[in-house]
Parts: sequence; structure tokens; C-alpha cells
Amino acid sequence: MITTEQPWQKFDREHIWHPYTSLSHPLPTYPIESASGTRLKLCDGAELIDGMSSWWAAIHGYNHPVINKAIEEQTAKMTHFMFGGISHQPATTLAQKLLELAPKSLDNVFFSDSGSVAVEVAMKMALQYCHTTGKQQGSKFLTVRGGYHGDTFLAMSVCDPVAGMHSIFKDTLAQNYFADKPACSFTANWKPHYIDSFKQLINIHHNELAAVILEPIVQGAGGLNFYHPEYLRQIRELCDQYDVLLILDEIATGFGRTGKMFACEHADISPDIMCVGKALTGGNISLAATMSTKCVADGICANENLFMHGPTFMANPLACAIANASLEILCNSPWQENIARIEHALQAGLEPCRNSPLVADVRVLGAIGVVELKQDVDQEAIQAEFVKRGVWVRPFGKLVYLMPPFIIDDNDLQQLISAVVEICSECS
Ligand SMILES: *Cc1c(COP(=O)(O)O)cnc(C)c1O
Repeated sequence: MITTEQPWQKFDREHIWHPYTSLSHPLPTYPIESASGTRLKLCDGAELIDGMSSWWAAIHGYNHPVINKAIEEQTAKMTHFMFGGISHQPATTLAQKLLELAPKSLDNVFFSDSGSVAVEVAMKMALQYCHTTGKQQGSKFLTVRGGYHGDTFLAMSVCDPVAGMHSIFKDTLAQNYFADKPACSFTANWKPHYIDSFKQLINIHHNELAAVILEPIVQGAGGLNFYHPEYLRQIRELCDQYDVLLILDEIATGFGRTGKMFACEHADISPDIMCVGKALTGGNISLAATMSTKCVADGICANENLFMHGPTFMANPLACAIANASLEILCNSPWQENIARIEHALQAGLEPCRNSPLVADVRVLGAIGVVELKQDVDQEAIQAEFVKRGVWVRPFGKLVYLMPPFIIDDNDLQQLISAVVEICSECS
């Protein structure tokens, strides 16, 4: 519960933007003091169990000793140095590790600071590839409805045009093609017609396309839709058939969240370009990467062309060192068992929500549990209810969801689940 507002909180409310908020009508924020393991501590001393992993990212929980040690060691050497004309081991180690973990077709890595930029980079790679390889018309992208790829302009142009939170910008955005939202759920029986809308669009427009881009298996902020692996497999086939590049945005799904290291493994396919971010550093610091095949890189660089992107903080050594530590923790942990354990608990625990007249759907995949309500939640009220129950869960729209750190223990997990079940059966 929020106690008396401190002066710094008043300043925050009046002068600092939060994600997707108004400064004129700010919603309350909860003042956090610290976070450790799966708990966050509020300034009033209240301890909450984290059900969000700070938006897909904090897979090992907070204040992890191995991460902290990596931060100390790297800080003693250098926190940053420009990447132009310079190389360093933290970046090299990370690139090697990423290529080792990622689908085999991927061969090179471009580091950037955030997921949105990694998506911009991927789309620019596809555009430059088309430019240098003579596919001069290749300037559009084909995606599916229900997607989310970030908040920058190219990324916004492939977010769901309605649910993508960017409708204000529609006149300024590049006009791309949208197939129907993948309608066949992860576990449903596959029927051939599910791919029709996509098939039709790629058939008509393939000559204009720089690439197809989508989130593999799990559509994240666009609505937490889990779709059938066969859909993704056929998209790969169609991209091959029409000679169109396939970009997979694994920013939310990457590093185990869906039960596979990367979600595209559910469909046993590999992309031409792939974006990762979020859990890359275990949620400790912003870092993202765009990987591509050698063929894409060769195409871009044909005729002595350069790839035209280079962020100031590219391959920040501290961020890379943290990512290296995070991947080490992940790969040395029984993460598949952890995800399976979380998946089973979420499936069993959230199932009763289905009986509530307020609930439209319950779905679980890996360490993601979703209760979709029939109506939008009152975010402020429901947030307060969760905090009252000692958990940090942040619903949006009709979606109440859990994506806890992989290290969460059974008790904490049950407490998260109970809070969701209680609230989804009660609140309107
Ligand atoms: C979060 C997200 C992004 C954007 O990443 P930022 O780091 O917020 O810029 C892009 N794609 C997907 C699938 C995401 O979930």
C-alpha cells in the first residue's frame, strides 16, 4: 500500500514520463527500494513477489551474486569504450555464445542498446540486402496482426495497427502488409486454411517485400497469443518459395521463456535475421542484438557497401559482460526443468479461472500464464489489489498474466497463482 507521498515521488509524478502514461493524469506508482531474488521491496517495507520478471527480462531474479560479481569485475576494467575501430573480449565472448545457442544458420551479430533498435537494424538489414542484391522494389514488410515489435518508427510500422498502441502515428508510418492474426492456438488441431491470409498476401506482394517479420509462436505485448508451430513452419516454407527474407523477433521469447531456448525451435526452423533483447542480460541492463546469416551479410556488403548503422553505445562492454554472466547462469542451470515445473503449476493453478464468468480464456506456454478477461481491467484498481496480496502483477487491457523469474520457488509461484485466481474471479 502507498503510504505518505515523499517529495521525490511528487517530482516524479509531475515531471517524469513512465511507459505509456500521461503527465496530466498520472496513475499512481509504487516506490521501490530494492529487489533481490524473486522479491521486490517497496519503500514502506512491504515485500512483493515478482510475477513479471520486469517484462520478460529478469529470468534469474534480482541482485544475483554471479551477475553482481561480473559487474564489479568489468567495472574495474572499463564500463564503456566506443566500438568504432575497437574490439573487446566481452563482445566477442557474447557473440560466440549467441551464435552457438541460436539456430545454426545465423553467422554474425550486430549489438545495439534496445529491442526496438534491434528490430530497426533487422529491417534495415533486409532493406539494404534488397538494395544491393538488385531486388529494387523490396521496400515493404509483411507481418501478421497482433504483433508487437517496439516503439521506434520502423518497428511501429509492423506492430498491430489497432492493438499496437501506435494508431496516432498511422499517417506517418511506412505502409506495410498485415496478414490475419495467427488464429490456430499452440495446442489446437492444425487446419490448412489457417495460413490462407498470409499465403495470399505473400503470393500477391512478394516482389515488393524486403522481408517477412513476426514474433515466433508467442505474440507478446500485442495480446499474448500463442500460435501453432505449423503456422511458423509454413511461413518459412513460403519465404523460401518466394525468395523473401524471414526476420524473427525473439526479443520476448528468447532465452528459454517458452520452454525452448528460442521459440522458433518449436517449429524447427531458422530465420535469416533474428532479434534478441530483454532476457539477454537477465534483465540487468539494456542490450540487444540482431543476428543474420552469412548470405544476408554478403548481400548487404556486396559492391563494397557498408551496413549503415552504428549506435554510440554499441556493444557496451559492461552490458556484454553482464549478458555473458547471465547466459552462463542460464546454461549451467536446469532451466528446462524449471520452465516445465512453472508451466505445470500455471496450467493446474490457473485452470479454475475458466469457471469465472469474467474470464474469456486461460492459456499457458512455458513460463507464461495468461488469463484473458472479457473486459479491460481497471489498471489502477487491480494493481492495488495485487499489491495488497503481496504480489507484483501488472495487467494490461484484458490480460492478467504471469511470467515469473525462472528461479521462483513453488511457494512463491503458488502465491502468485492464488492472487490471480482470486482477483480474476472477483473483480470486474
Ligand atoms: C519488448 C519488445 C520489443 C522492444 O524492445 P525494447 O527494448 O522495449 O525497445 C520488440 N519486440 C518484442 C517482441 C518485444 O517484446
